[in-house]
Amino acid sequence: MTDHNSTTCIFCAIIAGHAPASVVHRDDLCMAFMNLRPLHPGEFMVIPLQHIDHFTDLSDDLAAHIMVTGQRLGRWMMQVFAPKRVGYVVHGFGVAHAHLNVLPLRESSDIVSEKHIVQTDAGLRIAHEAVPLRSRSDLNADAAQFLRDQ
Ligand SMILES: [Zn+2]
Repeated sequence: MTDHNSTTCIFCAIIAGHAPASVVHRDDLCMAFMNLRPLHPGEFMVIPLQHIDHFTDLSDDLAAHIMVTGQRLGRWMMQVFAPKRVGYVVHGFGVAHAHLNVLPLRESSDIVSEKHIVQTDAGLRIAHEAVPLRSRSDLNADAAQFLRDQ
């Protein structure tokens, strides 16, 4: 767990009320506020009140609470913004304070990474098949790594 950046973290400043945010939820463990640069209107993030950089360092209970909060607010997003899907992304880049991005998706390309972008004669295109398939035996070997110590 890291909290050495809590004095300079913009999310901690928002939590402390020292920086502006359009807050949609706050309880004793987390808060949610709108993303400043949404791909589509309605995009927000859920963050723990405690400064923890990596989402994987959250306790089970805190991670679950953040996910459930994002899910409940996602229902609100469906009603208000009527996207085709609600997407949930944790990538850990940007602000070094764990955050769950909740995205109103209108098309599948709203949630893909740059690895899905391919150059064609007609220009750039999003293609899920741009990421190569992993063989079943490699997938099974990957899964075995997770299962080994359980
Ligand atoms: Zn922070």
